[in-house]
Amino acid sequence: MSALAAPAPASDSAPPFVARRIADGVYVVPGDTGRGSEGRPNAGFIITREGVVVVDALASPRQGEALLRTIRSVTPQPVAWLVLTHHHPDHHFGAIVFRRAGAKVIAHPDTRVLATEGGPDALVADWTRVVGIDAMRGFEFADVPDRPVTSADTLRMGGRTIVITHPGAGHTAGDLMVWLPKERVLFAGDILIEDGVTMVVDGSAPELLRSLARIDSLRPRVAVPGHGALPPRPELLVARTRRYIAGLEADMRAAVEKGVPMQRALASLPPPDENRPVSLNSRRRRNAARVYVAEERAWMGLEDSLP
Ligand SMILES: [Zn+2]
Repeated sequence: MSALAAPAPASDSAPPFVARRIADGVYVVPGDTGRGSEGRPNAGFIITREGVVVVDALASPRQGEALLRTIRSVTPQPVAWLVLTHHHPDHHFGAIVFRRAGAKVIAHPDTRVLATEGGPDALVADWTRVVGIDAMRGFEFADVPDRPVTSADTLRMGGRTIVITHPGAGHTAGDLMVWLPKERVLFAGDILIEDGVTMVVDGSAPELLRSLARIDSLRPRVAVPGHGALPPRPELLVARTRRYIAGLEADMRAAVEKGVPMQRALASLPPPDENRPVSLNSRRRRNAARVYVAEERAWMGLEDSLP
């Protein structure tokens, strides 16, 4: 290369990610491992003769572009659909890249999450502080579905069957899973996290337990969690997640029934990490508070509702 060649501008130099084949024509693009919900999420894509179906768009336009380039390194097929597993920014803020590339969006129409309580502008400002202004260049919201799914929908294209289901509002009101019945591959979104501590702050423990039962009934060969390493045996991660959330539910219910105030019920947990809202300790704390409130409402005979 000539010594005079201009270096690539820094904003374009993010290397494409790795695409790992998990079944014929089915790929996972692994995010970070060992960082729980704080790491880059996993994404995936399914190649059909009529185009590519992408699962999740990652956390920013820059990450979305890197994902698209990764897909392009495997197949020249156009991206036909982008499926969003839910509406947390780390899973959909790269969506605009796929829309501009011609993809239509499949998502649950309920986009409510705690992070959007302050309105879309505050969410974008907060998220820009997390990922940086360069990563956000060209951002627009693109998570409103062209094809909304509220219970189940089956995409049949290019010789493939792709089932998109809403298993309940376990992680968020807008949870979707992508299931390939022939390949027995499941993209579970954040219903599964590598360490078994799924957040229910935007969802609920009973709905999460229902979603886990749904995963068990599918008996997936491969289950792609929202974040972190793929479990060698999916049913063990499901069981671990169930143990955690059912145990938390039982503890908080017992505390409510004994009249233990929330602060004392949470006292045995390590404190949340400052400025790390989804670290392991913060997730355990925030989940406990969420479940305590739900159990308290149930004890008083009130309906649980999203905070
Ligand atoms: Zn999430």
